[in-house]
Amino acid sequence: MWSQRFVIDYSLQRRAVLTTLYRGGATSMDDVCDADPYTLRAAKHHGEPVPQPCPVCRKTDLRHLSYVFGDELGQYSGRIKSRREIESMAHEYGEIRAYVVEVCQQCRWNHLVESYVVGDGVARRPPRRQRTVEDD
Ligand SMILES: [Zn+2]
Repeated sequence: MWSQRFVIDYSLQRRAVLTTLYRGGATSMDDVCDADPYTLRAAKHHGEPVPQPCPVCRKTDLRHLSYVFGDELGQYSGRIKSRREIESMAHEYGEIRAYVVEVCQQCRWNHLVESYVVGDGVARRPPRRQRTVEDD
């Protein structure tokens, strides 16, 4: 059993962007459909399929990507994790915030959907920093 706390729903902001786009306002498709190649690749390999069609191009190629952030994650903060992984992390960490982004693989629409906090409230020390090739 896991619980999500401090849930922030970004659907109002999302709707505002889409409304401006539909009305042909200042927001152009180039402004909102700007997922970079890294994000598109991540969506393809790690994204979790969304049953709803893309709000921009109406194709059913929408994926959710979840990024996790937290001091306890150390250098691993900001990584992409699946819902299942976040579910088990909820028992291993005190406080982690996850940000869920929807990404369309067809038109490159991307927008923050929601964020939430998981964890058992008991702070852990961040992992010891691993040496990586970038350090050399
Ligand atoms: Zn799309």
